[in-house]
Amino acid sequence: MVQRSAGEGSGLIDEAYAEVGATLVDTAAEVFAQADLIIKVKEPQPSEWPMIRPGQTVFTYFHFAASRELTEAMLATGATSVAYETLADDQGRLPLLTPMSEVAGRMSIQEGAKYLEKPQMGRGILLGGVPGVAPAHITVIGGGVVGANAAKIAAGFQASVAILDVNMDRLRYLDDIMPANVDVLFSDRHTIRKQLERADLVVGAVLIPGAKAPQLVRREDLSRMNPGSVIIDVAIDQGGCIETSHPTSHADPTYIVDDVLHYCVTNMPGAVGRTSTFALCNVTLPWLLRIVEHGIEKAAAVSAPIARAINLYQGEITNEPVAQTFDLPF
Ligand code: NAD
Repeated sequence: MVQRSAGEGSGLIDEAYAEVGATLVDTAAEVFAQADLIIKVKEPQPSEWPMIRPGQTVFTYFHFAASRELTEAMLATGATSVAYETLADDQGRLPLLTPMSEVAGRMSIQEGAKYLEKPQMGRGILLGGVPGVAPAHITVIGGGVVGANAAKIAAGFQASVAILDVNMDRLRYLDDIMPANVDVLFSDRHTIRKQLERADLVVGAVLIPGAKAPQLVRREDLSRMNPGSVIIDVAIDQGGCIETSHPTSHADPTYIVDDVLHYCVTNMPGAVGRTSTFALCNVTLPWLLRIVEHGIEKAAAVSAPIARAINLYQGEITNEPVAQTFDLPF
């Protein structure tokens, strides 16, 4: 059952669902009233909370730790909440978060290129330069999924790129796979400050799992950057790794501090909804089919990743960090 026009923003028309046998209904309320299993992208919104019933399973991003209100509302429904963001494989990787980091990392360079243009208040610099004129210098802080994807796209633009991390194994890996126009550097305060003097574009891509991002660029450091330089702080959803970052939206994505343009959109993949939809569905579908095949209880019994994804089970918290965050019983 598909809510009419649910796929419209991603360019997926209702007829495409109908053709493969889906029933289209006019409102989300009809889906919530009839379905045993609900699949979404964003966490349930307050208007949806009263529609969710005991015994139902909701499979989506929840980010419970960010909202006591959402946690308590979903507990009160008696439904089971299966969270994309805690579906961890046996190596501790989070396969349902990875595609969003890939999208945001690649997009950070596209946005950076745009905001470096003069009409967008940037320095007026072309990423790749031209014969006889140096390319832009791009500094990527954090060499995980976001950072590696940013560096790869930046390198493809023929920019001069530096990628910084603190994990030596990761640095060795990046050094192996990155092209010659990417310097792989250890991230410390000295190197970051040196990079700021050169960088036309800085991408913040640091993550310390379960913690607020460390502020690696301080306000006083901005004076080292050229006026019109651009910072894209992708890590903003964890507080940002630049002291002067604050969350922005696609409607009003940028602001300027000390002549440096900041872009700190918390939901970057939303701007490229079609790519993001396919990227997300590619990874969620196999898990969804397992849940459908076995039912959530049996699926959790046979699949540890699915068990880890269950944050709330019929009115009880089954994820320890969520319980600890709000001092609720586990
Ligand atoms: P990741 O875990 O793959 O990578 C993080 C990297 O940061 C790791 O390699 C780690 O070693 C490195 N790191 C830790 N401390 C560092 C330091 N002091 N200096 C340099 N590097 C350091 O995480 P990811 O998937 O790349 O995500 C990065 C951030 O982007 C996360 O906060 C994530 O939530 C965020 N994100 C935001 C959006 C958005 O729309 N804004 C979208 C996707 C992801």
